[in-house]
Amino acid sequence: MNCPQCQQANPTNAKFCRECGARLPMACPGWEERGDYAEILRLKDWMLLRKGDAEGAEKLYLASLDWARKQRAKSWELRTSTSLAKLWQGEGKRKEALDLLKPVYDWFTTQRT
Ligand SMILES: [Zn+2]
Repeated sequence: MNCPQCQQANPTNAKFCRECGARLPMACPGWEERGDYAEILRLKDWMLLRKGDAEGAEKLYLASLDWARKQRAKSWELRTSTSLAKLWQGEGKRKEALDLLKPVYDWFTTQRT
């Protein structure tokens, strides 16, 4: 990373500039862990569901979905939507489940990269 003061190139993990000694900003600390946040929420969910806490699971699925969308992590969004849709289908909310899945499904089927 380049020093913000003198533009000296420093090793990625350096805390201080080797040229001028200025403190270097950390590159998004913890970002990698946060990238997995949606997946963690989804797993936590699945465990709640196994314990029969459907309401708690639904809340977590929605939080996970929200996170996946913010990260533009489409594969998470798809997996979480699928799980949530299954939950809703079990509760008889077929229309909600379909409305949830359709946009994600369409994104995958129409987007060709
Ligand atoms: Zn410097």
